[in-house]
Amino acid sequence: EREARNRGRRKSRLVVLAGPTAVGKGTVATYIRENYPDVLLSVSATTRRPRPGEVEGVNYFFVDDAEFDRLVDANELLEYATVHNAYRYGTPRKPIDEALRRGHSVLLEIDIQGARQVRQVMPEATLVFLLPPTWDELVRRLVGRGTEDEEERERRLRTAKLELAAQNEFDYRVVNGSVAEAAREVVDLMQTRGPSDAVP
Ligand code: 5GP
Repeated sequence: EREARNRGRRKSRLVVLAGPTAVGKGTVATYIRENYPDVLLSVSATTRRPRPGEVEGVNYFFVDDAEFDRLVDANELLEYATVHNAYRYGTPRKPIDEALRRGHSVLLEIDIQGARQVRQVMPEATLVFLLPPTWDELVRRLVGRGTEDEEERERRLRTAKLELAAQNEFDYRVVNGSVAEAAREVVDLMQTRGPSDAVP
């Protein structure tokens, strides 16, 4: 079946990488950015502040609330969501449209609400769900990251439980045991050839 797919014409595709909080989506995306320079990664706009080491226009476009409102009102976002009841995040539409038109595949690393919106507006998108090897491992990663306080951690774990239930809505599941292997799988999915991969 795979061979049959590979014989098809190469098509650009929109691939969405989503998954529960703390599963390591950001780490996999960063690994892809650093190791697969040919992969186009969408850069989201967000109202949260940069963390140490984050670079404007590389990790995110850091905007204030007024600018985010403007992006929404001008219909410049393909999808957007408030994540963890805190900050807003959204995917700029134009770079994606342009990339697809030029025949390039694009990767979006966004949350599950965002993935659902993409499915609505671009049904041909490929949705990939990143899974932790186990629930305990997810908890361990959230604690180990140390970027959230106790209350915020509890909130994110509650969210993660709900989010895990969404995996059946996705086209593919990738287990994030090793970051390098998970990244490879995601990149492979982006490069799959086949007649069903068409994007207008
Ligand atoms: P962080 O603040 O840790 O970088 O990201 C928090 C969450 O926001 C992650 O789950 C990430 O996937 C999600 N996120 C980042 N960019 C976007 C976006 O453009 N749209 C949506 N819906 N979620 C996003």
